[in-house]
Amino acid sequence: MTDDLKSRILDILRRMDPPDGGGDVVSRSLVSEIFVADGKAFFSLTVPAAEAQRFEPFCRRIEAEVAKLDGIAKAIVALTAEKSAGSQAPRNSAPPPSPTPRPAGGAGGAGGAPAAPARPGANKPGIPGIERIVAVASGKGGVGKSTTAVNLALGLAALGLRVGILDADVYGPSIPRLLGLKEKPKSAGGRTIVPLEAFGLKAMSMGLMVDEETPMIWRGPMVMSALTQMLREVEWGPLDVLVVDMPPGTGDAQLTMAQQVPLAGAVIVSTPQDLALIDARKGLAMFRKVDVPVLGIVENMSYFVAPDTGRRYDIFGHGGAKAEAERLGVPFLGEVPIEMAIRESSDAGRPVTASEPDGPHAAAYKHIAAKVLQQIEEAAPRSAAPRIVFD
Ligand code: ADP
Repeated sequence: MTDDLKSRILDILRRMDPPDGGGDVVSRSLVSEIFVADGKAFFSLTVPAAEAQRFEPFCRRIEAEVAKLDGIAKAIVALTAEKSAGSQAPRNSAPPPSPTPRPAGGAGGAGGAPAAPARPGANKPGIPGIERIVAVASGKGGVGKSTTAVNLALGLAALGLRVGILDADVYGPSIPRLLGLKEKPKSAGGRTIVPLEAFGLKAMSMGLMVDEETPMIWRGPMVMSALTQMLREVEWGPLDVLVVDMPPGTGDAQLTMAQQVPLAGAVIVSTPQDLALIDARKGLAMFRKVDVPVLGIVENMSYFVAPDTGRRYDIFGHGGAKAEAERLGVPFLGEVPIEMAIRESSDAGRPVTASEPDGPHAAAYKHIAAKVLQQIEEAAPRSAAPRIVFD
């Protein structure tokens, strides 16, 4: 069904004449992976920077055409401009306008207010070059928060967005291990830090900045200053989304962090067990307290499929998170089974969404990414959003 819809979308794209007269966008490989979830289609077009403006109305036409398909209620096409070779992210300067996927028929935008707050009404200053910041949090450790954060970031990247990931878990940083990063980030001219790169993501970890020998008891007070540095002194931009892997728990440190970082929203990861769900509720309450929209709950280690028989086992009582999300009135973003491939690929520093992009687990994470994207748009629609990047 989904494959059929994708090929019908590709047929539409092949038939449409782009404004530069260069031939259809499919044959020119300008179209990202197409993702269809819950009647919504998401994909991006990558065009030369000089042509970006001309392609805006074309994108809107595509959205309208795709939304006419049976089985598609809405299409979101992000426009991404190609970087010219050797171009650099701007340093200490206002960010370039950047693309924001938008719902079909949504208002078009123009211009770019530099470092706009991540959400309307939020009085925290935005981070130059970063369009939106999304926190991934959990009420307690060990529920797969970091694994979800990495694969969510990769899922968003597969949708055509420019994505970074920041590991804010100073007590147990795991992003370097999950992404196979070993080297220390370099400084640019002694003033800013160049983020590391892995699988198309820009990545930074507080763990890379705090000496491993530093006693845990000293780390707490360092968190806020290290976090500020990670956000403001790293050359992130231009990014559409920065995913922040929050420290587990809902204590004061987490609350302060949620308060300090200009968040577009938070994703809560939970296992289906009741106990973990109670913790997820705490996470929810924490973000509500600081007025950060909760984008939804992901149920991790949701069920287990025996590789030999294909039989499904709901070991932790699958479905708890979905029921809980409904009860609490927050979106349910999706479920991820407990799966050896997810654990092994994580341990090997090759997250499953990147190492098996066409596999079922990548599909689950991309599905979650698409829902997160939709929730961000709904939680903080950008009425005058800059759409296009010029490098
Ligand atoms: P947290 O950040 O919540 O402490 P991690 O992401 O570090 O949790 O995950 C804890 C452990 O569980 C890791 O060994 C990870 O590989 C494993 N894990 C996470 N999600 C899954 C999954 N869906 N299936 C199998 N193993 C998983």
